Amino acid sequence: MSLKSQIDAYLGADGRIAQAVDGYQVRQAQVEMAETVADIIEQDGSLLAEAGTGTGKTFSYLIPALLSGQKVIVSTATKTLQDQLLTKDIPLLMDVCGISGTARVLKGRENYLCPQRLEIAETAEQNTKEVWKKLNLIHDWQLKTRNGDKSELQALDENDPIWSKVCARMEFCQANECSGDDGCFYPGVKQQAQDAQILIVNHHLFCADLALREQGFGEVLPEADIYVFDEAHQLPDIAAQFLGFSVSRYQLDELVRDVRIAYKKEAPEASELADQASAVEDKVRVFNEALGKWEKRWTWEAFEASKASHKTLELLRNQLTQLIEVLKPLTDKGKLLSALYKRTQEFEKQIGSWLTASSENQIRWVESSQARFKLNLTPLSVADPFSRQRDALGGAWIFTSATLSVNHSFDYFAHRLGLGDAETRQWDSPFDYDKQAVIYHPIGLPDPKAPDYIKVCLRAAWPLLQESQGCAFLLFTSHRALQEAKVILSEHWDGTLLIQGDGPKTALLQRFKESDKALLLGTSSFWEGVDVKGDALKLVMIDRIPFIPPDDPVVQARENALKQKGLSGFFHFQIPEATIALKQGIGRLIRDTSDYGVLMLCDPRLTQKSYGRIITNSFPNFRWVFNADEAKQKLKRDE
Ligand code: SF4
Repeated sequence: MSLKSQIDAYLGADGRIAQAVDGYQVRQAQVEMAETVADIIEQDGSLLAEAGTGTGKTFSYLIPALLSGQKVIVSTATKTLQDQLLTKDIPLLMDVCGISGTARVLKGRENYLCPQRLEIAETAEQNTKEVWKKLNLIHDWQLKTRNGDKSELQALDENDPIWSKVCARMEFCQANECSGDDGCFYPGVKQQAQDAQILIVNHHLFCADLALREQGFGEVLPEADIYVFDEAHQLPDIAAQFLGFSVSRYQLDELVRDVRIAYKKEAPEASELADQASAVEDKVRVFNEALGKWEKRWTWEAFEASKASHKTLELLRNQLTQLIEVLKPLTDKGKLLSALYKRTQEFEKQIGSWLTASSENQIRWVESSQARFKLNLTPLSVADPFSRQRDALGGAWIFTSATLSVNHSFDYFAHRLGLGDAETRQWDSPFDYDKQAVIYHPIGLPDPKAPDYIKVCLRAAWPLLQESQGCAFLLFTSHRALQEAKVILSEHWDGTLLIQGDGPKTALLQRFKESDKALLLGTSSFWEGVDVKGDALKLVMIDRIPFIPPDDPVVQARENALKQKGLSGFFHFQIPEATIALKQGIGRLIRDTSDYGVLMLCDPRLTQKSYGRIITNSFPNFRWVFNADEAKQKLKRDE
């Protein structure tokens, strides 16, 4: 019996899920997607599946994957989806399908405790009282935890910097001289991942594994028969991060700090080690000063033209070489020195590669500000390594998201990951967008470059904000625009004003749902992965088409590469990127069949420029209105 023919027994009107879940309704798109995934699994094929919000796509891939009995890796972009899969969808489906397999989440190493580093941190002399308190907390938890996963340690803020001193990050690991016998959690966690039928990871970990395989340095993840990427639209950018590398001031400062600790603990007689730590620290500072104190993103060409920056980076690299020479004879004095020797070699090698990279597929760029810098090497395209690893691993590959296509074509996404041979399918959302919401596009707004643009947008939005009594997201494409709006609304809005950055995202969303007349002002991090159902959110305003700033070094390199092929960087890069981002932004409004409201898209280029049609053709089937009174009607539940 084929997998496809079994789908109806689970998702059909009289299927097992209908019998197990109250209020279950058959969704045709969900059934079709599950049948398509079943075929792809049996053919070991690849599928790009765009399924609109509310399709229920997690069931569409989980049911055939579970029924196949094969090993599955599901990779997601967000923790929210991982939690949903692990705690809700998979247990329910295993129960319904009568499958007794196991599902596990494997996270990146930095999420797990390294007992060795905890011990080192506990013996450092310069710990403050506050640090001691936190180390004691971690120590007590270490005695109880089974997996050493920091998400269990609720008493510690998830962004607390102390964690970076005790986590099992690869660059700090001295695995050669330290085994599971030392209480290391990571081997056990990895073994559980090996044994699970369904392994849930995030795109970062999947891509880190891909990069290791590509470089021939082994692997982190077990091999699987079925690979599913949900929220797949984020995958190309994350793959680019991991198939390249970066070296930051933060990492080099940590290196200096650890050299000083190792000197005191393992080689107090080697005073040249302390001298070297100070010399590296000095060169790091001088290099940062040469980059200037203003926040800046440098192309390689701009960096090369700055003689002082180039020269001081060479000096920093030379200093690292000297540190390596000093560390080399000390490696048998202790684990810390031995690990530092390898770590310094790695930094020196990366800076050397960065300075001398010549491949056309590598973009060299720098981010800098007063006390921060990061040298980045980003591949121009990840298509070759990604498709190479897909071929090497084999099996079925399913890529899904609500936003993969541009103007109903998957070419852009497929091209970025080298998936030209994949089958493509698109399913609309079951929501009745035409009835539930309208797109309000005010007429007569100035060019988005106009100095008073944000003020004019807010003036146009004002009648709607009054009508909806808040309950609105105001999404901006830049922090500057957000700050401008904040100043204006602080003066005029008498309800609750919540601003991205004023607290953790989840806390802001909670306050948004609970507060009267709430407005939430956000930039990129609120454009996706945010789910507010019901009356709490009735209006989403978006100020501009989210084009990536053209002075971004990666954008410049990608546009130049397209130009060399006779293609337009604007049409073949900026438009698809902006379309996918805008589709995510407008997807915030309607999250349920009973949701309703208004999407206010301010940017006049959507209707005045010819490219606007490519973008708007990619949207779900909303009705467009052009005057505020008509839009206001849609803010009432009963028209
Ligand atoms: S093997 Fe690595 S991560 Fe594990 S305890 Fe040892 S140093 Fe830490």
